[in-house]
Amino acid sequence: MSEIVRRDPRREWIARNRLHPEHERVLAELGQSAGHGMAATEWMGPNGVIRKNPHAVGFIGPNGIKRIDRSGVQQAAAAGRGASAGSKAADERRQVIIEAPDFLVAVVPDLPGGRLSSHDRDLLGLARQLADADGERPGAVLAVVFGQADVEGYGEAGIDRLLVLEGDDIDGYAPEARLAALTAVDGEFAPRHWLLPDSKLGGADLGRRLAARLGERPAAGVWQVERDATCALGWRCTGRGAAGTSDIQRALPRVVLALAECAEPVSETRHAARPLALSQPLPPLLGRIEDLGQVAVDPAGVALSEAEFILSAGNGVKDWDGFHQAAEVLGATEGASRVAVDDGFMPRHRQVGATGTWVTARVYVAVGISGAIQHLQGIQSCDKVVAINLDPGCDMIKRADLAVIGDSASILAALVEMVQRQREEKRDAA
Ligand SMILES: Cc1cc2nc3c(=O)[nH]c(=O)nc-3n(C[C@H](O)[C@H](O)[C@H](O)COP(=O)(O)OP(=O)(O)OC[C@H]3O[C@@H](n4cnc5c(N)ncnc54)[C@H](O)[C@@H]3O)c2cc1C
Repeated sequence: MSEIVRRDPRREWIARNRLHPEHERVLAELGQSAGHGMAATEWMGPNGVIRKNPHAVGFIGPNGIKRIDRSGVQQAAAAGRGASAGSKAADERRQVIIEAPDFLVAVVPDLPGGRLSSHDRDLLGLARQLADADGERPGAVLAVVFGQADVEGYGEAGIDRLLVLEGDDIDGYAPEARLAALTAVDGEFAPRHWLLPDSKLGGADLGRRLAARLGERPAAGVWQVERDATCALGWRCTGRGAAGTSDIQRALPRVVLALAECAEPVSETRHAARPLALSQPLPPLLGRIEDLGQVAVDPAGVALSEAEFILSAGNGVKDWDGFHQAAEVLGATEGASRVAVDDGFMPRHRQVGATGTWVTARVYVAVGISGAIQHLQGIQSCDKVVAINLDPGCDMIKRADLAVIGDSASILAALVEMVQRQREEKRDAA
């Protein structure tokens, strides 16, 4: 049988048109042809753009009623994000072990807060794409990390080899020492590509330094990488250039600084993350930079997408002064549901959710937020969710790792009092 994929524009049109009487049937058929027997959640639209059907989310329970898993596991599995939520899905992944790789693709993740960010995971997805492209002669993804040996989910993120570089020189802000270490790694393992996140968390700076040291011209702001046999290494990349005003295409170079969403994160396979070591210890370095430690920043000024601890307000918050005071005392960045924003209590850039910001906080406290699907989508990559709500049956409580049932104003006031008391006790003891 011919392997040419034949498209049926009429069926595709019906699949897009929720009001068409045959919409459900056609969606189910498309799902079956995709091999999972469920309605398709994604398909290609007439202009080649992938379309998503949010109504096809969920599954039919034993009593014939449609169920939607709001725990975040489904979404996290589908998106390949969310270390804790995705752990069940991770168990069902195919184990891949690459014994003798033909080449290495090195990735230097940012690991903000000591865990893989979604940007890191996208980059690892891109590395897998490059490593797996030639099925018969597979490459391996080598992650080079600075002192973060025990991060959860390295294997699930697509890492075959793990090189942990440790030392007093390398801790904190130490670009010279890190550069020297990466140069040593390049000398010993000679990876085909170096991928770093083009982020202000460190990858952008380190990647440019590395490229200069290796004498390579890096590709920066890369958001797409495609096969192209006419290019030197068989790949072409597209990156933002001219201060983000235009796209620049070129052959994929050795050093690549990629943006978030440059590729899909790994979601179907689990890799070995085998430890590697340098054959020689790193040479001592007379650094010219002294790291004087981190400076406390105002959490209110932190962008939601980068915040590690978010206190988010919904329609259940009535005492707004109390909410702002709680955020200040706890040192949390403020977020909000769309209702709180629409009602004018919070600025638009603080909205969390499908049409706001997708957050990746380590702890997300949802105060008086019911847990509408659009809001839950935005917090699917958060590690721990705490819900404060009057309604024990609401979807946010189902999603939460810890739930507090009660009035938001009094719970926040009690929390503030407790924290202040503990701080005073600590101060007295010191
Ligand atoms: C196209 C589209 C896009 C959308 N995008 C987003 C989005 O990006 N982000 C988003 O958030 N929403 C979005 N929405 C809106 C979303 O559907 C919900 O309407 C919204 O999230 C509800 O906000 P809420 O939970 O704050 O309010 P409500 O649904 O009104 O919930 C309030 C909650 O507070 C609790 N509560 C009430 N009083 C108290 C109290 N005293 N103490 C404690 N708890 C209390 C209630 O039990 C309830 O659970 C979108 C909707 C559409 C149609």
